Amino acid sequence: MSEPLFWQQLPVKLSYSERKTIALYVKDSQIEIRAPLGTPDHFVQDFLATKTAWLEKTLAQQRLQLGQRVDYRQASQIPFMGFNVRLIRAEAASPSWQFDVAGLKCNIPDESDSAILPLLSDFYQQQAKFWLVKKTNDLAKMLDLQKRLSDIRFRRTKTKWGHCTNQGRIQYNWQIMMAPESVIDYLVAHEVCHLQHLNHSRAFWHLVHHAHPNFNHDRRWLRDNGHRLRLA
Ligand SMILES: [Zn+2]
Repeated sequence: MSEPLFWQQLPVKLSYSERKTIALYVKDSQIEIRAPLGTPDHFVQDFLATKTAWLEKTLAQQRLQLGQRVDYRQASQIPFMGFNVRLIRAEAASPSWQFDVAGLKCNIPDESDSAILPLLSDFYQQQAKFWLVKKTNDLAKMLDLQKRLSDIRFRRTKTKWGHCTNQGRIQYNWQIMMAPESVIDYLVAHEVCHLQHLNHSRAFWHLVHHAHPNFNHDRRWLRDNGHRLRLA
């Protein structure tokens, strides 16, 4: 017998349902195949064999991305709007933070590494509330769209960086504050331009380009590096 292919050594979840086509998904190194009811085994095997190169690439990419995530529980600095901010830990009775030229001072009551995470999360949220509200209002005003903007909200979301509803409510993932400022400006431009065009049409991208000429570079940066901007 020949050597098993690398994906044959990984667990593959196979499920059948009333669908028309066979599809392959990879998430957290788990391979899943969804096939139409009654698909013969050899068909599934052949299908998987044609996807070897893609699978190898996708699995490697996911492993790399997981490895690139920073563990902020023990970090000595954190990214903030394109800068590395020094993290200073101090013991105190109640948790609080102070941000100045020296860095971000975190007063933590307990010894455990993870105690710093709620403080960092609060720091990024407060900064997002200040900067993103200001940037969003300024740009909406400049594009004469301020009347369409009804509300700005913040949330920690897994996959999306921003969202704009047809009621003019813009929502941001506050973890974007870990990105360089020009990437933050691109995200703001993207969501504010949705106040005018609630789609990704040519007219929409034209307006984004007008609001943020460097948008292509920053959009690519976010796509390639967004996975690292997670407060783990
Ligand atoms: Zn969009």
